[in-house]
Amino acid sequence: MQKINWYPGHMNKAKNQIEERLSLVDVVIEVLDARVPESSRNPVVAKLTENKPKVIVLNKSDLADPKLTKRWKNHYENETTVVVSLDSKHNSKLPELLKAIKQASAAKIEKLTQKGVVNPIIRAICVGIPNCGKSTILNRLVGKNVAVVGNKPGVTKNQNWLKVNQQIELLDTPGILWPKFEDPKVGMKLAAIGSIKETVFQFDDVALFLLDYLHAFYPKQLDKYLNTIEFDDNLPDLLMSMTQKFGFREDYDRYSYHFIQQVRKLKLGQFTFDFLTEVDHENDN
Ligand code: GDP
Repeated sequence: MQKINWYPGHMNKAKNQIEERLSLVDVVIEVLDARVPESSRNPVVAKLTENKPKVIVLNKSDLADPKLTKRWKNHYENETTVVVSLDSKHNSKLPELLKAIKQASAAKIEKLTQKGVVNPIIRAICVGIPNCGKSTILNRLVGKNVAVVGNKPGVTKNQNWLKVNQQIELLDTPGILWPKFEDPKVGMKLAAIGSIKETVFQFDDVALFLLDYLHAFYPKQLDKYLNTIEFDDNLPDLLMSMTQKFGFREDYDRYSYHFIQQVRKLKLGQFTFDFLTEVDHENDN
C-alpha cells in the first residue's frame, strides 16, 4: 500500500501534475474501488476531467456486491463516460477495458481518420486514489509490452508512453489522487476495506462501523455470521459478546481486527459500502 500523508501542499502538487498530464491524453481511465465507488472518488476528479472522454473502472468487483456494481455502472454511464467493472487481480488480460477505451475515444479516432491519419493512436492515463488498483491495471494492459514508446514531444520529464497495442498508448505512471477525508464516514469505509494506513484508526471503531452498516444493509449475512449470538442494539456490547463467543476472551481489540479481516476476506459475503441512495436500498427489501 502506498503510504502518503496528504497535506494541502501535496494535494496542490498532485493536482498540478495531473492537470499537466491530462493535457497530453485523449482518454482518462478513472479507477474506483467497486466496494466504495463514491468514497474512493477523488473530490475534484470530475472537474479535472470534465472535458475528456472517460472510462470509469469499477475495480475489485470480485469483492463487491454484484447487484450494486451494476447500479453504479448505470449511474456513472453517460455520453462521454464508458463504465466497466473489472477484477484485474485475477484476469491477466482486460479485453473489456480495451474495448471501453476504444469506445470512449471513438469520436477522436473518427476525427483523426477523417483528417487522413492512418492508424490513429489513442493516449490514455490511469488516475485514482492509492490502492484502488491503478498499477495492477497498468501492468495488465501493458503486459510484456514494456517497451517504452519513446520520448516524443509533449512528454514531460521522466514520463514515457507504454504501448498497449497498435492503437493505444498509456502514460507509464498512474496519477495518484487524494481521497475525500473530510467526511469521517468515508474514512471509516476506506479503513474497512483496507485502503488507508492501519495506524490512523482504532480497530474497534471500524468493527463497530461494520456491524452498524451490515445490520442496516446486509442483515441476513450478519445474522448468519452471528449464528446463535443475538443481535444487540448496543453495538459495543454486541462486539464484546462476539469477542467472547468466538474465543478471543476479553481481547476486544484483537477480535475487532479479526472481524475486519473476516469481512475483507468475504467470509460474510460480498459487500458494497456505498449505496446510491437509501431509497434505492429500501426498494430492494
Ligand atoms: P494502486 O495503489 O492504485 O496502484 O493499487 P495496486 O495496483 O497496487 O493494488 C492495490 C492492491 O489491490 C494490491 O494488493 C492488488 O493485488 C489488489 N488488487 C488490484 N486490483 C484488484 C482486483 O480487481 N481484485 C482484487 N481482489 N484485488 C485487486
